Amino acid sequence: MEVTESTYGKTRIFDVEKIRNDFPILSREVNGKPLVYLDNAATTQKPYSVIETISHYYKFNNANIHRGLHFLSEVATEEYEKARLKVKEFINALSASEIIFVRGTTEGINLVAESLSRKNHFEEGDEVIISHMEHHSNIIPWQLLRDEKGIVLKVIPINDKGELILEEFEKLITPKTKFVSVVHVSNTLGTVNPVKEIVDIAHKYDIPVLLDGAQATAHLKIDVQDLGCDFYAFSGHKMFGPTGIGVLYGKAELLEEMPPYQGGGEMIREVSFEKTTYNDIPHKFEAGTPNIVGGIGLGAAIDYLRSFNFTEIHRYEQELLKYGTKLLSDIEGLKIIGKAENKNAVISFVIDGVHPYDIGTIIDTDGIAIRTGHHCTQPLIERFGLTATARASFAMYNKKEEIDKLAESLIRTIKMFK
Ligand code: PMP
Repeated sequence: MEVTESTYGKTRIFDVEKIRNDFPILSREVNGKPLVYLDNAATTQKPYSVIETISHYYKFNNANIHRGLHFLSEVATEEYEKARLKVKEFINALSASEIIFVRGTTEGINLVAESLSRKNHFEEGDEVIISHMEHHSNIIPWQLLRDEKGIVLKVIPINDKGELILEEFEKLITPKTKFVSVVHVSNTLGTVNPVKEIVDIAHKYDIPVLLDGAQATAHLKIDVQDLGCDFYAFSGHKMFGPTGIGVLYGKAELLEEMPPYQGGGEMIREVSFEKTTYNDIPHKFEAGTPNIVGGIGLGAAIDYLRSFNFTEIHRYEQELLKYGTKLLSDIEGLKIIGKAENKNAVISFVIDGVHPYDIGTIIDTDGIAIRTGHHCTQPLIERFGLTATARASFAMYNKKEEIDKLAESLIRTIKMFK
């Protein structure tokens, strides 16, 4: 089935109260107070449509896919492959064969590192460039390769505002540079990186680029053809979909040349003890029974996101960011970390004399959920001379009133410590 714009019907008017009604969890109480959920960079909440799609699948359509000829197996296969088409349309890939279902961003990046290594893409002394604001999931897979293959890891520096220093990037490139892997949107700072420019620069030297889109897909319209990237990895749970499912997009010509990541059922064409031939992409990279309901649930999340105009989502979230930045900046002793010009709705902060863990624990008693710690970006946090921050991260269902509550609760916290 080809997924077209009309599959999604009319674009919905952006109305935050109506959007909130789509998310059952948002009407619950925590510690006797209405939940204020500001931990969306960690994971987003799920709308009814996603929850019901999952429940419907298990109630009516559950079967293993791609191998049975019976009715249910065919229905389940069709639903799963339909979800792949939805992903393809969502990120504007050229073909559904470029969409590999994985566990999440982490697995997507590990798949690329591992498969390229197996293909002997890297020799000892070859270089991989990442940035100073990477999530650990875009650092450790390359460090594993460093230990295994002797590659060299190079890091694009950032300025005090938390922006990549693009001029330094090109200077890091040498004839030994074999791969570039950078985050599209920083989970800790909210910085939106100039990834198109990064791709253009790397491609001048024929270096492939992976973008970590974990924090981008729920907030920005993604067009992988326009970005020009070779790989794009993201997670379903950060875009209103289920956990345990994500996507690795890869250009077909690259995926075709890459050896499998894992071996098992589904990824083969024929097996004998002497020789095995592999299935076509994307199945070559999907060994074993996949997360069928996860893929279908992600398809429902994409339907949900596509029922809105992305420009509206972005405009609204920018409004929240501006409002929150002003309100929090006015609190005495509070310092915002990450002041990039191009930023998504994430506010990391520290408060004089109050440890981020105490902030998180105290405001939790007011029903407010934020994240505290290094956010799996330890080198980045250290770059700012810190060990932790508190982080409020917003989604399209958050309201200014919730930011008011956050500010009030922070002021109460500061008073307790005085
Ligand atoms: N990259 C970034 C920027 C992230 O924010 C995260 C999740 N916090 C990841 C990668 C890893 O995503 P997952 O845990 O879903 O694989």
